[in-house]
Amino acid sequence: MKLCPSCRQAFDSAGWVCPRCHFEPKKVEGFLSFAPELAYDNDGFPSDGFDRLVRLEAGNFWFRSRSKLILWALARYFKNTSRFLEIGCGNGYVLSCVNKAFPGIKLFGSEVYQQGLHHASKRIPVAEFFQMDARAIPFENHFDVIGAFDVLEHISEDEKVLASMFQAVVPGGGILITVPQHQFLWTYADHFAGHVRRYSSRELREKAEKAGFRVEAVVSFVSFLLPLMLLSRLLQGNDPKKYDPEAELRLNPVMNILLEKILDFERLLIRFGLRMPWGGSLLLVARKEKK
Ligand SMILES: [Zn+2]
Repeated sequence: MKLCPSCRQAFDSAGWVCPRCHFEPKKVEGFLSFAPELAYDNDGFPSDGFDRLVRLEAGNFWFRSRSKLILWALARYFKNTSRFLEIGCGNGYVLSCVNKAFPGIKLFGSEVYQQGLHHASKRIPVAEFFQMDARAIPFENHFDVIGAFDVLEHISEDEKVLASMFQAVVPGGGILITVPQHQFLWTYADHFAGHVRRYSSRELREKAEKAGFRVEAVVSFVSFLLPLMLLSRLLQGNDPKKYDPEAELRLNPVMNILLEKILDFERLLIRFGLRMPWGGSLLLVARKEKK
């Protein structure tokens, strides 16, 4: 069901005209726009970041490994997915991976930033994209799975986002979430990226449960590279003048392959049930139970 962004009426017609209050969200640059006041400027993410990222992410070990973990979790926990929404889809890199691995799934992507939508829709023409505030997803019992990959840590009101995801997911469906882990890893890099926090597994689990979900798995990843990550962050320090935002992405190719192999090995152990208490990131899998 759709939810009218103006009066919250649920409805199921083909278009977006609300049967009760007749409100219709506008299209901006070809995309349905549910939160136009946030489309060009808000404090969550440096918006020129999209142009930089689109060049770097497809080849980078970290983005590639995170995607492979997401695909594993989707297949393992949500076998019968037919509708998948990614919140904060950015350039659409993850969606393009889901599309390749599961061409039968109908894909939806949302971004608060208008800019990301253009890149993403060129990349995955079969997917539907819209501009939206993740705290107010205009759907109810609609998607089998909603993903938010490194999104929650950008949003002060992360609990509102989780509650909104709960409402938008079908009973029996669920969410896949990744976030950066461990507050002790906080450096200027987090500040630069627009993070509000890094999570502990406990905080993430509790917030998901509070939203109504049953948590099925909380998995640390990038665990084997944590010492390296610590070292790199210590060397970088907290001096904004010395900070180079692309340093972690601009690796030499041999190193990039090596790090990806290490994370491939780590993922193999995760598949066999290894759960590490630490890691650069966390993956959470949670379900909205059928009543
Ligand atoms: Zn309405």
